[in-house]
Amino acid sequence: MTTFPLSPGSTIGILGGGQLGRMLAMAAARLGFDVAILSPEADGPAARVAAHSIVGDYQDPVALKALADISDVITFEFENVPAPALAELQRLGAEVAPPARALAVSQDRLVEKTFLNEAGIPTVTFARVDEAPDLRAAFQKLGAPLLLKTRQGGYDGKGQVWVDRAGGADIAMGALGDRPSIAESPADFRRELAIIAARGRDGEIALYPLTESHHEGGILRRTTAPAKASRRLLAEAERIAATLLGALDYVGVIGVELFERDDGRLLVNEFAPRVHNTGHWTLDGCEVDQFEQHIRAIAGWPLGPTAAIHHVEMTNLLGEDVNGWARLARETESRLWLYGKRDALAGRKMGHVNRLSRLDPQAT
Ligand code: AMP
Repeated sequence: MTTFPLSPGSTIGILGGGQLGRMLAMAAARLGFDVAILSPEADGPAARVAAHSIVGDYQDPVALKALADISDVITFEFENVPAPALAELQRLGAEVAPPARALAVSQDRLVEKTFLNEAGIPTVTFARVDEAPDLRAAFQKLGAPLLLKTRQGGYDGKGQVWVDRAGGADIAMGALGDRPSIAESPADFRRELAIIAARGRDGEIALYPLTESHHEGGILRRTTAPAKASRRLLAEAERIAATLLGALDYVGVIGVELFERDDGRLLVNEFAPRVHNTGHWTLDGCEVDQFEQHIRAIAGWPLGPTAAIHHVEMTNLLGEDVNGWARLARETESRLWLYGKRDALAGRKMGHVNRLSRLDPQAT
């Protein structure tokens, strides 16, 4: 049995070895924890800054046992962790946070939107689509156009296609590989926003300032924070985040992606049960960043303060953008975070830069 709060010197296990794991490991090290990474990749961004690296598949029972044996608490850094992996870790007696249920809900867009609505959190209207006739029926119910998304596995805008009319149902289903899907009404949004939030083991909640997201080609390009927002909008974003954390009986940091509609209403697009790209600005922009906050939460420590100390424009360095590191390093107002990935493949997240400016006292 693990007892909380975890003492410095304890070991935190992380499923996944990418940049989120790397920045979690760096934050954990600062608080005196060791980190063990389980990833199929021997030499990934996280393993290179962690005390222990276990190389294996996420479903490999030997690798999972090794992780459970060495770790006092286990977390994950991406949401496509196979559910059986968490079940196996729990069977081995490991303490897992965030809860497996949060992961399961986030892995299926239909389950996720149903869960959100049942918790009193608004989303676009949607319909379950198993086969082309379901999609044709969805046009009757929801109107046109519709955004068809696979229920599982889509990310960065992949696995989704706009459908203009019922007659296009077969082609659209085929384009997504005839997989179980969800049809969504257009969000008609004016801005895409996000809120990072955390919940501790004692139920304490900490909310970060609201941020504005700018996507290009389905990938997050820039975040500006704190976002300009009315008190009413901010209060609604905070209500949504706090309601979601409670409904999931959550422990850790969560990222909630929001649409601000033209009529001012806020809808949730989706949530990620982990630290999130829209929270990278907190590394230099907030009193305690999202990575340390996640470690604090899962270790049973008190949550840290989340107030903004700078206005930040966070830009992802995609692919060859990273080759501009020397120029970026000369910018005195910029803070550079590089993930140590070997190959700058097109569109790959290689790092990010946080450009700081004075906090506008009007912005919250
Ligand atoms: P997702 O994969 O669900 O995060 O969606 C990726 C992007 O597609 C979002 O960031 C939005 O820009 C856009 N998008 C997703 N759902 C909708 C929707 N129902 N209506 C309009 N745009 C959407």
